[in-house]
Amino acid sequence: MSERLPPKERMKIPRQQMPEQDPKARAGNFQEVNLGLNIAVAEKEAQRCLTCNDPKCMHGCPVGVKIREFVDLVMDGEYLKAAAKIREDNVLPAVTGRVCPQENQCEGSCVLEKRHSPLAIGHLERFVADFEQATGQVGLPERAPATGKKVAIVGSGPAGLSCAGDLVLRGHDVTVMEALHEIGGVLVYGIPEFRLPKHIVANEVDNMRKMGVDFQTNIVVGKTVTVDELFDEEGYDAVFIATGAGLPKFMNLPGEHLGGVYSANEFLTRVNLMKAYDRDQYDSPIYDCRDRNVAVIGGGNTAMDSVRSALRLGAQNAWIIYRRSEEEMPARKEEVHHAKDEGVQFLNLHNPVEFLGDDRGYLTQVRLQKMELGEPDDSGRRRPVPIEGSEFDLPVDVAIIAIGTGANPLVQSTTPDMQTNKWGYIKADDESMRTSKKGVFAGGDIVSGSATVILAMGAGRKAAASIDEYLQTGDWTVSPDSP
Ligand SMILES: Cc1cc2nc3c(=O)[nH]c(=O)nc-3n(C[C@H](O)[C@H](O)[C@H](O)COP(=O)(O)OP(=O)(O)OC[C@H]3O[C@@H](n4cnc5c(N)ncnc54)[C@H](O)[C@@H]3O)c2cc1C
Repeated sequence: MSERLPPKERMKIPRQQMPEQDPKARAGNFQEVNLGLNIAVAEKEAQRCLTCNDPKCMHGCPVGVKIREFVDLVMDGEYLKAAAKIREDNVLPAVTGRVCPQENQCEGSCVLEKRHSPLAIGHLERFVADFEQATGQVGLPERAPATGKKVAIVGSGPAGLSCAGDLVLRGHDVTVMEALHEIGGVLVYGIPEFRLPKHIVANEVDNMRKMGVDFQTNIVVGKTVTVDELFDEEGYDAVFIATGAGLPKFMNLPGEHLGGVYSANEFLTRVNLMKAYDRDQYDSPIYDCRDRNVAVIGGGNTAMDSVRSALRLGAQNAWIIYRRSEEEMPARKEEVHHAKDEGVQFLNLHNPVEFLGDDRGYLTQVRLQKMELGEPDDSGRRRPVPIEGSEFDLPVDVAIIAIGTGANPLVQSTTPDMQTNKWGYIKADDESMRTSKKGVFAGGDIVSGSATVILAMGAGRKAAASIDEYLQTGDWTVSPDSP
């Protein structure tokens, strides 16, 4: 147990750094970049917490993790109890400790943020979750007596998992149906091994199995079974739709059909789920990046994950091509910093206008146009404006388009009495997550559009509370603001 220091002394302790794999070495392997805190460093970091009476950090957490209480337990050396405390509100602590944009959420609200560096809440969360996994003594919360009610959850990303975890604890019979052959959504098909190892997600999913959640893979709802059939033929009492926003967007440029041009979703799925990252063991159908020039178009997390994967697959040059400047980049700062350290090259204020190929139909060059920043647009960021006559050709063998994704339309098109908005996302009430169809709830990216893991988990928790209320009361009174 650490001795409790007076607040003035606590503020003198600098934020403890996360050890990282050496940039040169890691650019050639898929092992995790961040190595985790050891006990001494974690306790020292926990000592920095000012244990505020009204912890602002908690207001910044969409799932309401009891941050002050778990950090207090870390100071006491009670790591398993700290992990169990997090699990009361968060079924995926080892995941969120790794990939949450804490700088905009809990850490962004930490009082230390104003005059010092914020408490490293994410690193501490990861520390206790990893400690728990390493000891195998996982403090799973207790399950309420069985209610006999059945809930189907469509999609196994963070929204579906978080909803499933809460509902099973309330005694309901929960089945998660997933179109792919692996459980986890973007956590397994999108985010690469070097940021979120697959075994970390698999362990969390196993914990949920132990809690009683039933997982079924290779079920495409809308094809294998419709939402109406889930109610009428399979006897479900409620359905939660959490199918994410996985439909790739393209640029509609000449030459985008050429061999060697991928959507980021396809590229990352091949790398992650078809195991191209383990190229000595698996013969994945992926265009070989070794000694090639790879250009990734976009400036978000997906673009960073794609370009850093390409580098690890042996690319000679791996470029980010982004039409605004680094300041406007939506990717987490940590990811940009890691990418730079590893040797990724940034062509900011550049935009592709055409993909050029050889007579076999394979990409050879990308025609780029230089941009400058104009007045702010609707997003509040300065608008990129093309510079006439600035075009030039960059030799590129593989181009990966990472400019965003849209709603997958399958469930919506086979559930015609459920309302969608003009972009095809499902309309659901902000608080109850109810859709316009009785018994059907929706949340995560399929409602909000592409967002974050923790926001999807927050939506899953809200939906679980609302589904539980509906199952208990049978009441489907819809508020005037509901869809
Ligand atoms: C490459 C990448 C990196 C990212 N990095 C981060 C990050 O570092 N931090 C962060 O906070 N956020 C990150 N995000 C965003 C975050 O992952 C998403 O906001 C989050 O996963 C959304 O969760 P979800 O549960 O709504 O959907 P998803 O995670 O997309 O899961 C939806 C699941 O539903 C399944 N599904 C779809 N249709 C059907 C159907 N008809 N039947 C059955 N199953 C279906 C899909 O196969 C998928 O498994 C990243 C996103 C991407 C693409």
